[in-house]
Amino acid sequence: MTAAPLKPAAPLSLLGLTPPEITSLMAELGEPAFRAKQVIDWTFAKRAVSIEAMSNLSKGLRQTLTEKFVTRTMTIATVTGSKDTTRKFLLKLHDGRFVETVLIPANPALYGEASDRHTLCVSSQVGCAYDCKFCASGLAGFTRNLTTSEIVEQIVQVEAYSGERMDNLVFMGMGEPLSNYSNVIKAIEILNAEWGIGIGARHMTVSTSGLAPQIKRLADFPLQIRLAISLHGASDEVRNKIMPVNEKYNLDELFEALAYWRSKRKQHITFEYILIKDVNDGLDQAHRLAKRAKGLDAKVNLIPYNTVEGLPWVRPSEPHQDEFRDVLLNAGVKATLRREKGHDIAAACGQLRLRQETELGIIESPIPEKRITINAGA
Ligand code: SAH
Repeated sequence: MTAAPLKPAAPLSLLGLTPPEITSLMAELGEPAFRAKQVIDWTFAKRAVSIEAMSNLSKGLRQTLTEKFVTRTMTIATVTGSKDTTRKFLLKLHDGRFVETVLIPANPALYGEASDRHTLCVSSQVGCAYDCKFCASGLAGFTRNLTTSEIVEQIVQVEAYSGERMDNLVFMGMGEPLSNYSNVIKAIEILNAEWGIGIGARHMTVSTSGLAPQIKRLADFPLQIRLAISLHGASDEVRNKIMPVNEKYNLDELFEALAYWRSKRKQHITFEYILIKDVNDGLDQAHRLAKRAKGLDAKVNLIPYNTVEGLPWVRPSEPHQDEFRDVLLNAGVKATLRREKGHDIAAACGQLRLRQETELGIIESPIPEKRITINAGA
């Protein structure tokens, strides 16, 4: 066996720093505050692709800054999909890893009138440790957290490529955002800030598999972001089978955290509920779900299960999906049956995964294999 190559050090990207941080780093280099302001402006407002591109800084300063900082650490490896449909971006990170980011052009089913929005589904980790039994993202296990700048740069890369401004972000790509809490929070601050990327907090949704303590912590975070919970089971018995996280934080603990969230915020929580045939689609679950949702005045997004290669689950028939939804509607719960986009390019929720990039021939470091155990009675 040959020795593993040294890990490349992460370059310090300005996209992950706040103005006070940039200002103090510039001060360490002996540069005055107004220079720092120029650098901040180039980094965020002007989206400079490199330090070299900061053309009103002297050559000497650009040289010094180039030795310390970068403004890009990733490249777009592939783009799948067409301009007017869901497009999946495979982004190559500085260490040869990959993450996926999905651009969803318009989704009237989700946003009603405001269907001209550009929604970006961003990743928060390389892989995922939570091992939900229906999801592709965790199949290869967890590799690492994304840094703050890697989260911010996903938006910057897609905006530059597509020529469109993103006005809605969902942390529903690869990874569990609340287990990369500090990087996600800092990225949200940068994405929201006037000096930063300028996306309204109400247009950012953090989705979690249910990390109760972090949900409480997030409830105290001042920005009015939205919260989505990947519920997928309305009793501990069903949820335990498909979401190991439920054994750590069961439904009572989760709902205690959600009650705290609700006490702090006016916005409605959204429950994501995948419908998987004979696993969680019994009408008893629908009734329990209705009760739970009503208690919190939450909305429910029902998502017919998207096929994941290698996993045995299937979606229920359309009449059964409707029946499940009608239980919620009849109980007075706001429920939608979400028409997925991007199914054909494996970019829909839960289809994001790290591939051994053999088809692309571009992966350098293989992702560790992980045995998949399915124990949900398939
Ligand atoms: N870890 C976070 C963020 C990922 S969100 C979370 O769990 O919320 C990804 C969304 O896609 C979640 O709602 C997840 O439950 C859903 N999902 C996963 N696999 C899916 C599949 N095969 N079909 C449909 N939705 C799926």
